[in-house]
Amino acid sequence: MKGTQIVMLGSGCPNAEADRVSSGVAIAVDGQPYLVDCGHGIVQRVVQAHDAGLIAWDSTALTRLFVTHLHADHTVGLPDLLYTPWIHGRETPVQAYGPAGLADMLHHIQLAYAENIREHRAAHPSTERGYQVVTREVGEGCCYQDERVAVYALRADHGDLAAWSYKFVTGAGMVVISGDSKPVAAFADWARGCDVLIHEVYSSNRFPERSPEWRAYHSRVHTSTRELATLAKEIRPGRLLLYHQLFWGQTADELVAEITSNYDGTVISANDLDVFALQA
Ligand SMILES: [Zn+2]
Ligand SMILES: [Zn+2]
Repeated sequence: MKGTQIVMLGSGCPNAEADRVSSGVAIAVDGQPYLVDCGHGIVQRVVQAHDAGLIAWDSTALTRLFVTHLHADHTVGLPDLLYTPWIHGRETPVQAYGPAGLADMLHHIQLAYAENIREHRAAHPSTERGYQVVTREVGEGCCYQDERVAVYALRADHGDLAAWSYKFVTGAGMVVISGDSKPVAAFADWARGCDVLIHEVYSSNRFPERSPEWRAYHSRVHTSTRELATLAKEIRPGRLLLYHQLFWGQTADELVAEITSNYDGTVISANDLDVFALQA
């Protein structure tokens, strides 16, 4: 399929929710998905999207991974990503890009599943490489390029964790995804004019109800609706998609209204299995 699709596989956050799995977004360019993060339930969401006819590719196409940071809600699905598509017939290794520590994490996952790997390789010698992963640590600037897409990384600010935002430049347009971050000074210039901005957010209206400890934490590592409205005014994205929403009891409409009361662009609160298309 030609064009760029954004497939919201997991729009959730660390809090387990009935209708949202944790973080995972596929930016699919001409039918090749580039997965950003892999929380729990992401491979199952790919199967659901495929079976529902929302996407033409299946889990065996998951061979490019970009990790924003190593929090569990962005990485706990990594064993699933390595081994389930392998069972489904993936034959090529995964190329993984992300922060310092990602290679160690993936190495230890492979060690933890050594018995699974040994048995499956012995039983199915033709699928020798589909569980393997090649990891590269990213730095600022272009971190990946092929004939469909160029991917750029910008350092995010998520407290003590190394964290990255990513920008995907495709023939059909530009997609920026924040990962988890509080506002970063360089972000607006870097993201300006993107067709789609996918951004994490928490509710400014409900923030005062949080405990002092959580208020201190969230203001230090995440972005409020008020801050995001200010950012969006500078960036002017074609569409602003909210994900990793901390609603704290607000409805999706109320969360969107917290932003649109200060920003006149298009704002959508994304749900799992939402698909957004950019056409060349
Ligand atoms: Zn998170
Ligand atoms: Zn995080």
